Amino acid sequence: MQKIAPITQDVLTLPRNSLDGPQNLIGLTRKGMRDVLIRTGTPEKQARMRAGQIWQWIYAKGVRDFDAMTNLAKTYRAELKNNFVLKVPRILTKQVSEDGTRKYLVRIEGGHEVEVVYIPENDRGTLCISSQVGCTLTCSFCHTGTQRLVRNLTSAEIVGQILLARDDLAQWPIPSVNIREPRLLSNIVLMGMGEPLYNFDNVRDAMKIAMDPEGICLSRRRITLSTSGVVPEIAKTAEEIGCLLAVSFHATTDEVRDKLVPINKKWNIATLLETLRSYPKLSNSERITFEYVMLKDVNDSDADARRLIKLIQGIPAKINLIPFNEWPGAPYQRSDWKRIRAFSDIVFAAGYASPIRTPRGEDIMAACGQLKSASEKVKKSSMWPKIPTPTA
Ligand code: SAH
Ligand code: SF4
Repeated sequence: MQKIAPITQDVLTLPRNSLDGPQNLIGLTRKGMRDVLIRTGTPEKQARMRAGQIWQWIYAKGVRDFDAMTNLAKTYRAELKNNFVLKVPRILTKQVSEDGTRKYLVRIEGGHEVEVVYIPENDRGTLCISSQVGCTLTCSFCHTGTQRLVRNLTSAEIVGQILLARDDLAQWPIPSVNIREPRLLSNIVLMGMGEPLYNFDNVRDAMKIAMDPEGICLSRRRITLSTSGVVPEIAKTAEEIGCLLAVSFHATTDEVRDKLVPINKKWNIATLLETLRSYPKLSNSERITFEYVMLKDVNDSDADARRLIKLIQGIPAKINLIPFNEWPGAPYQRSDWKRIRAFSDIVFAAGYASPIRTPRGEDIMAACGQLKSASEKVKKSSMWPKIPTPTA
């Protein structure tokens, strides 16, 4: 088994919006947008309406050019152009899998890269977005975990992934809520690169924007945030974002979980479960998803399945079994299908839904845990000299 690196929380957080240069309007909350408009001369009385108009252009119509905002006076558009930009990450490459999955490599400021994956299904289309470049955590079965963290994404870069996927899918304008048109992009999962709860504020702002009824308009129940178990931020997720929660559980003893998901050494299984039991929004229709990667001879025995059921007793839950997705040099193997099915049967017999996640986009390395970009950590001092390192 791979040597476990110590947990570090060495995250660079950029200023909330963008680097130096004109302010990016994308990624600001409604209030944030109003505030910057007032600061640059929009009369206070008009600011709410102007922010609403600009909001609709950006998030309902997909417009990123002030000149195209035709319900604003020409002089006002010119002022906007002087003061602001509308910037999203740029798609560098797009790969399309045999099964229709699309993987985008996108470039963010500073020349770094993250991956975004679009997964079409019969009744939905899910976008798997990233919250960090790399990850500070070092889960031993995860490809992203072998990439040193470069930095947290800004809220603009997080919501920008949704905007650029909509560009690629030609999904503008967003149909009004009353029109029951099938949406190619109907769900968001924060299951790409990074630990979303170590970039809480930016993830929250981006998801609030995605949920806003006058823009992207995704219901909070169509957004799932996956965490490795950052206990102090879990209750905040329910209160401040309100989306669904998935937890990377992966083991039924602390001994094994310490090795697979090293954050377990900080917040162990008992502490994590206690927090999940009091997740405020829990109801049967809003179950917590327990993600469980199936690793041959590591965590996949019948005894593991039985322990799992016992541990989560009383928590409205569904168990998502993820066949391990291999990557070059990975220290594990995928459990046999027979073993995965046997595990699933035990969990199912105990009354829990236990879908086996079909690996998608394996031929383009787009499946869960296979994402890794070429960005590597550089010395902070040479990159972003003025950026403070948070202690959280
Ligand atoms: N950092 C967050 C979200 C990103 S990972 C988290 O850990 O929850 C999304 C899911 O894929 C997690 O459950 C993660 O544990 C799982 N995963 C990571 N590497 C994997 C791999 N190689 N095969 C299958 N699942 C993997
Ligand atoms: Fe980070 Fe999640 Fe991968 Fe663990 S599984 S290294 S938390 S991205």
